[in-house]
Formats: sequence, C-alpha cells, structure tokens
Amino acid sequence: MKHLENKVALVTGGSRGMGAAIVKQLAEEGAKVAFTYVRSADKARQLAAEVSATSGQQVIAVAADSASDTAVAAAVEEVVRTLGGIDILVNNAGVYEKKPLAAQTGADYDEMMNINVKAVFVASITAMKHMKEGGRIISIGSNMADRVAGPGATLYAMSKSALIGFTKGLARELGPRGITVNLVQPGPTNTDMNPAVGEHADRARTMMAIPHYGNVTDIASLVSFLAGPQSGFITGTSVTIDGGFNA
Ligand code: NDP
Repeated sequence: MKHLENKVALVTGGSRGMGAAIVKQLAEEGAKVAFTYVRSADKARQLAAEVSATSGQQVIAVAADSASDTAVAAAVEEVVRTLGGIDILVNNAGVYEKKPLAAQTGADYDEMMNINVKAVFVASITAMKHMKEGGRIISIGSNMADRVAGPGATLYAMSKSALIGFTKGLARELGPRGITVNLVQPGPTNTDMNPAVGEHADRARTMMAIPHYGNVTDIASLVSFLAGPQSGFITGTSVTIDGGFNA
C-alpha cells in the first residue's frame, strides 16, 4: 500500500518549482492532491492533467492568490468540499526579492509578509478545523531563517524566520489532536526563483558542503516523508535541507 493512500493534500503554489514536484510526489504516493496557483494558469492545468494521468489520482488546480487571505481561506474550503476533507497542508507558495533594506517600502513589506507569512497562518487555521488525527501541516521556509549569508535578503529572512515560531507554537496546539506541524528549510534549489546557473549560483556553491544545487525532488521526498505515517513523532521542528550551506 502506498503511504498516502486515502489522504487529501493541498499544496499552495503548486504550478511550478518545488510545489509542482511536491504535487507529483504526493499523488504518486496515493494522495488526492489540490494545488493553488496565480500566474501560471497553463502550467497549472497541464500539471493537474499530467499528474492525474500518471498517478491515477484526482488532482485539481485552484486559482488563489496567497496575497489575499480571503482567497486562501476560500481555496482551503473549496478543497475540503471537492475532495472530501483535508489531511495534509503544504504551505509552499512564497516570493523572494533581492533588494537592500534601504530600498524596501511598506508595500514591499506587506507583499512579502502577506504571501510568505499571513497566507501560511490563514491556510493553517482554516485547514486545521477540518483535520483529523494523523493530519499534517508542513511549511516551506528557508535556510536563510538561520543564516543570511549576504546583503539584500533581510525582509525575506524575516518572513521565513517567522515560520519557525509559528511551527513550534502550532505543534503545541495540535499535538494533542495527533496532528503534526513541521517546517522544511531548503537551501539553494534549482527553480525559476533560484536557477542553478549564473554568478549568484556559483557563489552559493562555494558555500555548500555538497557543492551543487538541490533538485526539487530532494525537497519533495522530504515533504512526502513528513506527510506520511512514519513521521508521526516529528513535530514542532525545522528540517534544513541545504547541501550543508548552513553547516
Ligand atoms: P518558484 O518561484 O520557482 O515557484 C513559486 C510557486 O509559488 C509558483 O507555483 C507560483 O505560482 C507560486 N506563487 C508565487 N506567488 C504566489 C501567490 N501570491 N499565490 C499563490 N501562489 C504563488 O519558487 P520555488 O519553487 O523555488 O519556491 C518554493 C518555496 O520554497 C518558496 O516558499 C520559497 O521561498 C522556498 N525556497 C526556495 C529556495 C530555492 O532555492 N528555490 C530556497 C529556500 C526556500 P504562479 O506561477 O502560478 O504564480
């Protein structure tokens, strides 16, 4: 039996990058999967059709901008209605912009905090109402929450470090219900957000114990494990998966 059989999962920001790899892996492991997207509607439609065909699972794409708390809450409720519940929430959608703090504005702050933090809060409180014992909330943070290796990422690091406290606190609240809450903190991983080519990537590799970028499947495998029954005693923690960047 596949380890996520009879489970329903929602992955925010699943149209590309890590989110798409997580969608694939959870469906291959037997879960029905919904994912949100904003701009990449064609990719989202294509992914849902492809993964559904290869896994044999129901896979649906839901348009929902993580910048809007009402859209996020509505997406969770839609998934519950359409797929019959929610067992696994993966808060993956996130944005990154390299910009000196002196050039940041209040609008930049609102955008980053709404997508990287508030949407995680809203999706989690909406989903947890529907979760049963064995439920899983997994958020994608960043190794930058623990180590900021250069200038220009202050706001992003601040947003991702907020998820550490959120994960610990929520684990305490949901532990008695048999629901775990964990944070995955990737380092350099080859996606549109952080391509494994170019000057920035060369510098990043010099700082890693394993000097190459991670693949999206590395992250998806860890998320799949944390989503499954074998991880039931892991909660309130952060797992850094960064090729030793922070070592
Ligand atoms: P990408 O930029 O490659 O993909 C981002 C995904 O999130 C897309 O599917 C995009 O959907 C979606 N998304 C972006 N903004 C929103 C929004 N407002 N509402 C809903 N969905 C949204 O990023 P990655 O795959 O690299 O990143 C995934 C997560 O991993 C993020 O939280 C990121 O911060 C984190 N991370 C990434 C690292 C890396 O090296 N790549 C390192 C550490 C952490 P669409 O195109 O449809 O808008």
